[in-house]
Amino acid sequence: MSELRFDGQTVVVTGAGGGLGKAYATFFGSRGANVVVNDLGGSFKGEGNSTKAADVVVDEIKAAGGKAVANYDSVENGEKIIETAIKAFGRIDILINNAGILRDVSFKNMKDADWDLIFKVHVKGAYKCARAAWPHFRKQKFGRIINTASAAGLFGNFGQANYSAAKLAQVGFTETLAKEGAKYNIIANVIAPIAASRMTETIMPPDLLALMKPEWVVPLVAVLVHKSNTSESGSIFEVGGGHIAKLRWERSSGQLLKCDQTYTPSAVLKKWDQVIDFSKPQYPSGPNDFLTLLEESTKMGP
Ligand code: NAD
Repeated sequence: MSELRFDGQTVVVTGAGGGLGKAYATFFGSRGANVVVNDLGGSFKGEGNSTKAADVVVDEIKAAGGKAVANYDSVENGEKIIETAIKAFGRIDILINNAGILRDVSFKNMKDADWDLIFKVHVKGAYKCARAAWPHFRKQKFGRIINTASAAGLFGNFGQANYSAAKLAQVGFTETLAKEGAKYNIIANVIAPIAASRMTETIMPPDLLALMKPEWVVPLVAVLVHKSNTSESGSIFEVGGGHIAKLRWERSSGQLLKCDQTYTPSAVLKKWDQVIDFSKPQYPSGPNDFLTLLEESTKMGP
């Protein structure tokens, strides 16, 4: 099999000054792409800024014979990052929304500032970058987006109410972009990665970190954003340490109750076992699926 190449395409990687973003940027740089290395260069809690993080990665890509430019804007100003791509390379083909920070604190002690900053960077940041790239993608009938969720978003995690809410938002965002983009060959997928980085180095033991190189998240991302992927869109993947798995929603077959005066909390309790019974699961993929289900079960009667 020949290697996947990205010659002539422009890839924007946000938060590419370290960790996963750096691994994506250097990979695309080594496979023929023009790379925009965006990084604000602050701490993992979102404090401060510096041009160094992005510059180091740009220098590395160039030293290896690749093409790259730096951008130091916050993803909250996504239009400036896409502008850098257009000015430097005349196009944008692939957007990897990767930048992120943490403000972990128990919910009891969470402040509005902890909530707002996480939403600004993860949710508004992903939106602003995608929104600025979208007209280019539509016009050229080609675009690839990766958004970055987290297991914390999919399943919840202690001390991460803000982060998990913002990370699950990536799922709904991606699923909608995939639906709206389909007609224009715009493919959007969302990953929940796990990798050794400054974000995880204090919470995972060294032996586990050694198994979780950021480079091992890259091949899946490359496959999803390559032009040869024309069908896998709106999907959620968990990826790390060499393992890749797809996730999807599962719905119990549920129970239809008669909508009259007998529809009481006690009636719900009586049917509770059926409501939560996953023995005949369904895998919904759109809002209309529930209405179809309702129509079908209405035909059969409660
Ligand atoms: P990291 O801290 O090494 O990288 C994040 C980068 O984003 C940093 O270089 C940082 O400077 C940059 N950044 C932060 N705020 C920014 C902003 N406003 N604008 C531009 N750049 C900004 O962490 P990482 O582990 O590589 O994380 C990458 C992404 O993966 C994040 O979205 C993170 O939430 C997600 N994630 C990581 C893991 C993991 O195991 N490492 C797990 C789940 C999710």
